[in-house]
Amino acid sequence: MANEDIEFDVIVIGAGINGAGIARDAAIRGLSVLLVDKGDIGGGTSSWSTRLIHGGLRYLEHGELALVRESLREREALLKVAPHLVRPLRLLLPVYKNARRGLWTIRAGMLAYDALSLNKSLPKHRMLSRAQTLREVPALEPEGLLGAAVYSDAQVEFAERLVLENVLSAVEHGATVTTYARVDKLMVKNQKVCGIEFTNDRGGETRFARGTIVINAAGPWVDRVLKSDSGNSPRLIGGTKGSHIVVGPFAGAADTAIYVEAETDGRPFFIIPWDNKYLIGTTDIRYEGDLDQVRIESDEIDYLLHETNRVMPSAKLTREQILFAYSGVRPLPFTTDADEQRITRRHFIRPHPKRDNLFSIVGGKLTTYRSLAEQAVDAVFMKLGKNSPECKTDRDLLPGAATPDFDAFDRDFKQRSTLSAATNDHLLRIYGTRAALIARVIHEDQSLAEVIDDETGAIAAEVLFVFKHEMAKTLSDCMFRRTMVGFNSTCGLNAVDAAAATAQKYLGWSDERVRCEIAEHQNEVLRFQAR
Ligand SMILES: Cc1cc2nc3c(=O)[nH]c(=O)nc-3n(C[C@H](O)[C@H](O)[C@H](O)COP(=O)(O)OP(=O)(O)OC[C@H]3O[C@@H](n4cnc5c(N)ncnc54)[C@H](O)[C@@H]3O)c2cc1C
Repeated sequence: MANEDIEFDVIVIGAGINGAGIARDAAIRGLSVLLVDKGDIGGGTSSWSTRLIHGGLRYLEHGELALVRESLREREALLKVAPHLVRPLRLLLPVYKNARRGLWTIRAGMLAYDALSLNKSLPKHRMLSRAQTLREVPALEPEGLLGAAVYSDAQVEFAERLVLENVLSAVEHGATVTTYARVDKLMVKNQKVCGIEFTNDRGGETRFARGTIVINAAGPWVDRVLKSDSGNSPRLIGGTKGSHIVVGPFAGAADTAIYVEAETDGRPFFIIPWDNKYLIGTTDIRYEGDLDQVRIESDEIDYLLHETNRVMPSAKLTREQILFAYSGVRPLPFTTDADEQRITRRHFIRPHPKRDNLFSIVGGKLTTYRSLAEQAVDAVFMKLGKNSPECKTDRDLLPGAATPDFDAFDRDFKQRSTLSAATNDHLLRIYGTRAALIARVIHEDQSLAEVIDDETGAIAAEVLFVFKHEMAKTLSDCMFRRTMVGFNSTCGLNAVDAAAATAQKYLGWSDERVRCEIAEHQNEVLRFQAR
């Protein structure tokens, strides 16, 4: 918890990917940092994305070359600093007769993408004939198919963990982190922002923290944070809602991700292998509703099912096959432009003319969080009038990648482990080199090797570990944003009792707390229901 007597160099509001990245970079560069979130780390938009670390092929159409170049550079950096979380992904883009983008347009886009990807590690694109395309993905609708492009990007299966590892690294470098603490008000003196007033969700009392610079990285909630102040900020965010559905393997499902133009509105959408399931999305709809209650709507489900079944007719997906769904709001810059797709995906670090020492983050993708953070921390040093040490986040490994050779670590861990192959894979995918710390927990108490979820291979030791060492505060944090068991086919409902029993036995939870935590998890699962 923040000490009211301390004045932090920087207070960051919002522990999504951008706030976490800023906190980490600022702490590494020697600033004193307080990071505050009204919920859990990574519990906002950063959990509701398509989970791609991509150059943004689509942005080429809108002439955003600088954004594509930056994104491709960042993709490369993330593949190196977080190889356990960010992995190469092969995508196939089929082209149909009468589509808005023909074969030549796609080919030109691919050539430009490769040119901008120069000196990067992922393979260049290949164009496929119709026959080659159908050999690659036999279940594709053959009618009108002209061919396809195959190209590479990257995927962060568990974006939640990418956010968390940034926060863990920030803490390693001295940052203070407070979760479940809502910022209610910006403290202002002589037109200068000088701190925050926040309410601790659990204790309820109002607290204060003083900071020289405040960064509002509240994602789609940025304007809400500003509203608490009378500085008359213009509206900054004009969010659009995007929804995904998740299904199990289906007839004709491919190992390659499919990126296809929707028949209904020409929007590109994805069918992506994800966590042994398929992630299908997304939609793009203006959103003015309650940011804490964003849910998929019936017509979005129809759209995603229809488009998937159209491009892969053997899938015959129905609502009954949807395991769960999720929706989020993109924190895009506010504009009156009617076309959602044309809103820039670039980010902006906005100073406030009437409120000195305050910056608000507008936009910003998972892919470019690191460069956004670098720019934001540069701006902080400039404002503080201090020389900035060099930014090193493009090469400093994240905590779960702390080894010179991740593949060698992976092999060695599996060789030494007495756990099942499924559990080894799970631990390495989720925690990277930190899996060794979990192995140490088991070494001290073998009963913690007990599997709590057969589907993922997750074990009891993880529950203990994430509460003790990863700042989990609730069972839902543990399930959805630490162990990732919450994304199994039951949203973790099959494992929640076992996880709570572990917490009771090893962390001393009362019967009452166990009941409440299980009920809270069940309540959070409602958010994932495809209505
Ligand atoms: C449907 C969809 C698909 C996407 N797909 C991709 C993709 O494939 N690749 C990609 O790179 N990007 C993608 N994005 C974009 C990306 O996910 C977001 O731009 C990014 O996660 C935003 O991060 P953030 O940290 O700014 O916001 P958030 O993750 O929303 O974090 C903001 C945090 O602020 C906290 N907060 C809010 N108000 C307060 C307050 N008063 N006090 C304290 N804390 C507060 C919230 O709890 C939240 O945790 C997608 C986005 C969406 C919605």
